Amino acid sequence: MRIKENICPRCGGPSPDGGTCARCRVDQIRWMECDSRISVIECPSCGAWKEAGAWTDLNRERTDIATERILRAIHLHPGVESPGFDLRIEDISPNRSRASCTVSASLLGIPVQESCSIEIVWQKEQCDRCSRMSGSYYEGVVQVRAKGRKPYPFEIATAAGIAQETEGALQEGGERLSFISRIDENRDGLDITVGSQRIGQEISSNIVRRLGGRFSTHPKLVGEKAGRKVYRITFSVRLPKYTREDIIIHGGRYAEVIAVDKDNVRIRDLFSGATRTVKDSAVERLIGNLRDAECVMIAFRDGDMIGVLEPASGKTIECQVHPSSPLCAGQEIRIMRDGIDLIVIG
Ligand SMILES: [Zn+2]
Ligand SMILES: [Zn+2]
Repeated sequence: MRIKENICPRCGGPSPDGGTCARCRVDQIRWMECDSRISVIECPSCGAWKEAGAWTDLNRERTDIATERILRAIHLHPGVESPGFDLRIEDISPNRSRASCTVSASLLGIPVQESCSIEIVWQKEQCDRCSRMSGSYYEGVVQVRAKGRKPYPFEIATAAGIAQETEGALQEGGERLSFISRIDENRDGLDITVGSQRIGQEISSNIVRRLGGRFSTHPKLVGEKAGRKVYRITFSVRLPKYTREDIIIHGGRYAEVIAVDKDNVRIRDLFSGATRTVKDSAVERLIGNLRDAECVMIAFRDGDMIGVLEPASGKTIECQVHPSSPLCAGQEIRIMRDGIDLIVIG
């Protein structure tokens, strides 16, 4: 009786428990199955890859993508241990490749090996983003304007730069549909047309964080899609009337704007150095911005007078400074012009 128990009924070989031996069991298991054909879809315009119906931006080589998909097309029995893969991919036409795959593994403690062949069909399809962009699809417009004036060229350039940085960061983070479809400068400022509400929101808050002012959102119902209301949003960015480093006249005196908050500006009197907060509507006149200041040399100091050397004419022009001002001869200072007057900035 002992002997019978120790023989495999299938092959007659030894069997520890008298049942079908491991080798016979392994022979009966279809431990590897391969999909005979897989298709890999790439966007011809931007190089995005489609996977399980969703598009992703993967900055990867074609062979890496193929290898990954092939490994996923090989299905192994859960009992398979330590599988090793040997893949050879050859191109058979511009849009067809063939992969020869050999898997070596261990099953029920017995080494096994099997091979299969998988055909890869390379397909091209325009991705969701490219088709939205070519179809002029958009979800919002960021309108950059300034209160009571046209945005300055540096503000236009800064806002456009911020928009592009924001797009880059969002796309990097996988927000594929957060794209900018166009940037137009017009008489009133800058219009940034965007593919998602998310990017519109981020661009607007980034512009306000950098340049001041505020923004408000104005949704407009444009239709219905699959029972859901579809809105387009205007992000109305309003830059402040005055910006930091503006030189203005307030109460008949020259001052520099050092901070802006809603409708108030904090200013520093250029003569006395005193600071105060005033309504922007109380500002009498804008002279310019410190970006446009000139550098000149102080030729002499005499009491509360300094003489600055004007490079163009070579003449020395006298200006009054506060008695406690530390300015002295030989120093370089910044000045601005208001008609024939020179404004000493310091
Ligand atoms: Zn057996
Ligand atoms: Zn694309």
